[in-house]
Amino acid sequence: MDNGADAVYLGFRNATNARNFEGLNFSDEEAAQGIEYAHKRGAKVNVVLNTYPQVNDPSEWYRTVDLAHELGADAIIMANLALLKYAADRYPDLHLHLSVQASASNYEAINFYKKHFNITRVVLPRVLTVPEIKHLKEHTDVELEVFAYGGLCVMAEGRCYLSSYVTGASPNIEGVCSPARHVKFENQGPKLQTRLNEVLIAEYDEGEEAAYPTICKGRFEANDHVYHVMEEPSSLNIMEMLPEVIEAGACSLKIEGRQRTKSYVATVTKTMRQAVDAYYANPERFRAKGAWLRTLNQTSEGKTHTLGVYQEQWS
Ligand code: SF4
Repeated sequence: MDNGADAVYLGFRNATNARNFEGLNFSDEEAAQGIEYAHKRGAKVNVVLNTYPQVNDPSEWYRTVDLAHELGADAIIMANLALLKYAADRYPDLHLHLSVQASASNYEAINFYKKHFNITRVVLPRVLTVPEIKHLKEHTDVELEVFAYGGLCVMAEGRCYLSSYVTGASPNIEGVCSPARHVKFENQGPKLQTRLNEVLIAEYDEGEEAAYPTICKGRFEANDHVYHVMEEPSSLNIMEMLPEVIEAGACSLKIEGRQRTKSYVATVTKTMRQAVDAYYANPERFRAKGAWLRTLNQTSEGKTHTLGVYQEQWS
């Protein structure tokens, strides 16, 4: 907020959100203080409740809906049908945003959620091209939020089993991909190895920067080569396509900020704010400045960025 965000999102310290890592997230009291801080500055706070409760004990998830309402959150970001129904029935004044974890990537799906749960916004999966986003906007009045900056998941969002396969912990249930308790950084002679539940994820030469071991970004041997088989480490950065994405109908640009440092969040938010303001000041003449891109590359994975699927033309 101090660096120009109009809204922020936060989760509580439990499995009800998909960043359930030690040391992250908010206690009830911290969330109350954060919401008060935001509202005093005219910013909105959206609570993330985007994992899937299991039948044995869904009470924490329902409690979080009640808590978000009680604390005065502006919206809840959720994916599960039972929770959407609960929130829509009980708190018709509370805005419901459909999480990316619901993988709603066509207007029929989005309008289904609108019809049954009165969602006001959908966070689009990072699998859509700009023409596809435009097409969606022509067929729905639900607001569209798109990922503007941060990591990329190679899987259809909310459908990844890689972490569960190796660690037994599911991101969609326990809210954590590649849990820290399974992570090891080990020196093997001059090399550094990273492991997840003893599975070798990558090996680094001396002095090489090592990444947190997630399977999709691991270096594995295939066809006699060791390389990033699934995904190169790179951050999504839509700045060069900002006009196209906004004009396609996106009303909100999402910057990944949880599991990141305060300086990362401040730098990315401030730089993106400058770009958005420059666009609205003079849409025709907007150009992504080299200085902005260089600043953002300092924060990005592998020090490089990608436009991801936004730039594809296949639709
Ligand atoms: S393993 Fe990769 S693709 Fe799967 S949830 Fe984790 S970060 Fe996303």
